[in-house]
Amino acid sequence: MPRMTMLACCVVAGSIAVYSQSRDPAATVVYEGGRLIIGDGSAPIEGGSFVVQNGRITAVGRKDAVTVPAGAARVDLTGKTVMPGMIDVHVHIGYEGYTSWGAENYAPQNVLDHLQREAFYGVVATQSVGSSPTDPSIQFQRDQAAGKFPPASRFLFMPGMAPPNGGPDAVLLKGTTTLHAVNEVSAAEPARAAVRAMAEKNIKSVKIWVDDRRGTYPKMTPEVYTAIIDEAHTHRMMVHAHATTLPDQKAVVRAGVDVLVHTVQSEKLDDEYLAILRDKKPYWTTVIGLGDRTEVCDNDSFVDQALPAKVVATIRATVEPRPLAPSCGPRSPNAATREEMLAYNFQKMIAAGARLVLGTDAGIHAGYTFGSADHHEIARWVQLGLTPADAIVAATERPAEVMGIADLGTLAVGKSADFVVLNANPLDNIRNTRQIASVYLRGARLDRDALLAKWKKTEMSQ
Ligand SMILES: [Zn+2]
Repeated sequence: MPRMTMLACCVVAGSIAVYSQSRDPAATVVYEGGRLIIGDGSAPIEGGSFVVQNGRITAVGRKDAVTVPAGAARVDLTGKTVMPGMIDVHVHIGYEGYTSWGAENYAPQNVLDHLQREAFYGVVATQSVGSSPTDPSIQFQRDQAAGKFPPASRFLFMPGMAPPNGGPDAVLLKGTTTLHAVNEVSAAEPARAAVRAMAEKNIKSVKIWVDDRRGTYPKMTPEVYTAIIDEAHTHRMMVHAHATTLPDQKAVVRAGVDVLVHTVQSEKLDDEYLAILRDKKPYWTTVIGLGDRTEVCDNDSFVDQALPAKVVATIRATVEPRPLAPSCGPRSPNAATREEMLAYNFQKMIAAGARLVLGTDAGIHAGYTFGSADHHEIARWVQLGLTPADAIVAATERPAEVMGIADLGTLAVGKSADFVVLNANPLDNIRNTRQIASVYLRGARLDRDALLAKWKKTEMSQ
């Protein structure tokens, strides 16, 4: 009996030793020889090194300038490029089920799955905007911070506010209505009370919709959004505004919203608006990809690999245009006009000082999905005239700033070691962000193959 006890003890101890050797969070690792893109727009460090201890970066610089702590493990990144993990400030998480879409899919396991998809593609923090129910989301954040879930993109969220029967588009509205994810307000005082209740829960941002969807929805009145913005700012909260027309964007930026969610696509920006932008310098997510033809049409394995084959086949086989759902028919006859307007307005927004941040609206449908949408969006910016270096800042450092995440966004001392190793340099060609060799979250390498295997397995059982 004593002998058996001893044996049992040693087997257990042995397995703990193996576990801690491979996943010891306190281990010191030096990543050396790679090109380091810091994320703040500075010139890359060629032949750089950085040290990670306890999941945090403790030194970064040229290889010859970084002291390697004794006993550190070494990872050779010669020929690779390292950039900070991207941050998406605008998605709609939890509803996509790939064989179905809706509130019935909204559960912690599905939220986690979407965050794993973001992480798979190098997105290390993801914010669900206006469509995630508040209390379950707070619980999810707590559980994730406590380490109860496997590695995934860090979850952030904000509640939404809209007039009764207004707000999200016709697809998203079905989900948010069932889950009561949007606070319905039609007067200033109740709107202020709703914002105060959010502040009491330590919520940092709120989303408003200012849109009548071509006369089919009630639109939030200036009285209500002015009250929301004022109350939010009193509590140091930020207001994100969905506004898609020129008059609405002018009005909400003038009223002081902090983040614009869309780009005006129906008309050219005028001098009056550009003057308002120069004065207010709002943050701004372009959400261009949502209106683009899905990359699923392009037979690109980068996008397809994480999607069920059935979903890919269905989208490719659909040729009739479906508003708010993907198809692969002929290009819209309006595509050239849209592109011209987009290029004009994008460049004007940048020149006027609007502060670009990555946001995709992913999660609305499977053709435009978590993670791959981020790579699509930043490549579109570069197509429209941005430099790859500026695109990377807008996908890393600046979204960390707007979301108030102090430990993400750059490769710098003190930051969490959340980074992406690439096989090619995205400063040469922004599409090289797709050449992912590995993704690290808090200093631990994400098992991307295991995630792909999980998604394939789920697909087989469907
Ligand atoms: Zn959205």
